[in-house]
Amino acid sequence: ASVFSDIEMGPPIEVFKMVAEFNADPHPEKVNLSVGAYRGNDGKPWVLPVVRTVEAQMASDQTLNHEYLPVAGLPDFRTGACKMILGEEDPAIVQNRVAGVQALGGTGALKVAADFLRQNMKYEYVYVSTPTWENHKSLFTKAGFKVKEHRYWNAKTCSVDLEGMLEDLRTAPPKSVVILHAVAHNPTGTDPTQEQWKQIADVCEEKKLFVLMDCAYQGYTSGDLDKDAWSCRYFSQRGFEFFIAQSFSKNFGLYNERVGNLCVVCKDSDSKSKVLSQMELNVRVVWSNPSNHGARIVATVLNNPPLYAEWRESIKTMANRILFMREQLHQKLKAIGCPGNWDHIVQQQGMFSYTGLNEHQSEQMVKRFHIYMLKSGRISMAGLNSQNLDYVAKAINTVVT
Ligand code: PMP
Repeated sequence: ASVFSDIEMGPPIEVFKMVAEFNADPHPEKVNLSVGAYRGNDGKPWVLPVVRTVEAQMASDQTLNHEYLPVAGLPDFRTGACKMILGEEDPAIVQNRVAGVQALGGTGALKVAADFLRQNMKYEYVYVSTPTWENHKSLFTKAGFKVKEHRYWNAKTCSVDLEGMLEDLRTAPPKSVVILHAVAHNPTGTDPTQEQWKQIADVCEEKKLFVLMDCAYQGYTSGDLDKDAWSCRYFSQRGFEFFIAQSFSKNFGLYNERVGNLCVVCKDSDSKSKVLSQMELNVRVVWSNPSNHGARIVATVLNNPPLYAEWRESIKTMANRILFMREQLHQKLKAIGCPGNWDHIVQQQGMFSYTGLNEHQSEQMVKRFHIYMLKSGRISMAGLNSQNLDYVAKAINTVVT
């Protein structure tokens, strides 16, 4: 018998299973609304023109080579990424008390944070919103945390249950971390208002919660990198010591290059250096040092004003197309008299809509209409386009009627 005979088959990972089933589905009208990946109106992935430009430059640059990067990654990338989220004038940036650790995507940045907080800082609990991105719980559980949930989503009002959230956070035991979605909350598409962020920060301060911002969609809410950085900049200006797990998967369309950064904000530059040195030791035994290609593309763009400007236009293009799809879906559902109120489709922001379809209805969308979406009712707005909108709206109408 195999030494592995006691190993049980693990459950499938929902979103990757959906993508595989979608790819294998021969139905001519199939639609993929499951994975959070941008698509153009032609339904195809979009390689940003600025990425193509830099890749072409890199291909012909004879000075580049394939030597190892430093353990903490490409210096220009890390500095550029921290400045992009906090802003050049942020006090922590100016006072040289911010460090960046290049990681394998936003997921890798969360992993670097989780390992450091558990192993070096002995934090024990992590708070996540109900609902949240499904990987938060597994990642932190495997890193040795006990996971606790705080209320977040009020399904009746389709808005943030701030009172519930604050109440839950106020009961947090010492040594607790809280993961906050910096912008474009996944899956609800609903963020706290600035006034609400202030109250959340008050409780984090009062309860000494360690704040880990998860920022996977900077640019996707407003189309503007600075506006979408508001919550992170606010926490920094208030003097918090906190981390930001940044992903460049969505806003650069570099999904499979695994480009992320953990931005570490400390009270003084001495602490920053010590934290960074310990994170380097942690990284050394996980992936030793990160990959180059995607980070070099991002670093090149962030450090070159004309390329940066071009990239910002592309972000607007993506955000605006998603906004347009929101309006169109909303209109179509109303036009066909789909029962219920669909205003949340246009109120929600970022890449996703939390449609309010229940598990059964969401499964019907897949089984009867070949429209792939998560059981939670989450759809990726980027999967919609002018060719499939009618079909999707009619399907929603059928499953809710
Ligand atoms: N956090 C959230 C909330 C996300 O939605 C995602 C991507 N789906 C990530 C982190 C991780 O992004 P990456 O693909 O860069 O690892």
